[in-house]
Amino acid sequence: MPELPEVETRLHYLRRTAIGRTIDRVRIYAPGNIKTPSARVFARNLQGRRIVDARRRGKYLIASLDDGRALILHFSMGGDLHYYRGEDERPDYTRIEFFFENEWRLAFTCPRNICRVMLVDDPMLVRGIREMGPEPLGDEFTVTKLEGVLRRSPLRQIKPLLLDQSSVAGVGNIYADEILHAAFIRPDTRASAIDPERVKLLYRAIRRVLKNSIRTAREEDFPASFLIAREARGLGCPRCGSGISKKRVGGRTSRYCPRCQK
Ligand SMILES: [Zn+2]
Repeated sequence: MPELPEVETRLHYLRRTAIGRTIDRVRIYAPGNIKTPSARVFARNLQGRRIVDARRRGKYLIASLDDGRALILHFSMGGDLHYYRGEDERPDYTRIEFFFENEWRLAFTCPRNICRVMLVDDPMLVRGIREMGPEPLGDEFTVTKLEGVLRRSPLRQIKPLLLDQSSVAGVGNIYADEILHAAFIRPDTRASAIDPERVKLLYRAIRRVLKNSIRTAREEDFPASFLIAREARGLGCPRCGSGISKKRVGGRTSRYCPRCQK
């Protein structure tokens, strides 16, 4: 699932390809991915519009158009972007195809067909964006902010709390496991059990893991040091060698080291 680092790479890709381009027309293969407006209005309102800028907010990619509207892409499980020229280069699972004035195209792909695309007057109209917590790599995210998140939900387990986009933006299942491993915290630890020293450790782990991962997120596979990659190869904890434990926490498969993480 594209998390903050992967959406960041899609943002850079969009910037390199589609910014400044004018959309001639839009072909929609799977209208179900368009949440608002209707597919017909979506296609009509995009016709002739130029993409002037783009940014990321959490796991959303927000492209600004020359009429002030915003095209919002959420990649759910495995959604991606491909810029290409010829009809025969269209990738599998293309759900929406944007045709540009220079005869190149941008495909929005979504293998499981559950992505979310919106065209809105203002991104703040999207609830998930309006209620989103701070960007973990931004200046607004501080140790005090993180302490506040934990203090407001003392009984919640730390992993689901990190996955909650209203606490911190952009963290998903894989990076939450890496962050908690880096911070020596078990995923099922209650927020109230994490003392101030460990909150600092957690804060630094969030920033470090996400920042480092933006560089590797371009690759097909997760780095070999990741718990998910090591477990798949039958290897143990990258720190102490203990077998990696797997447990469902907050409904999500969580990998952790039973020895390093307390
Ligand atoms: Zn370990």
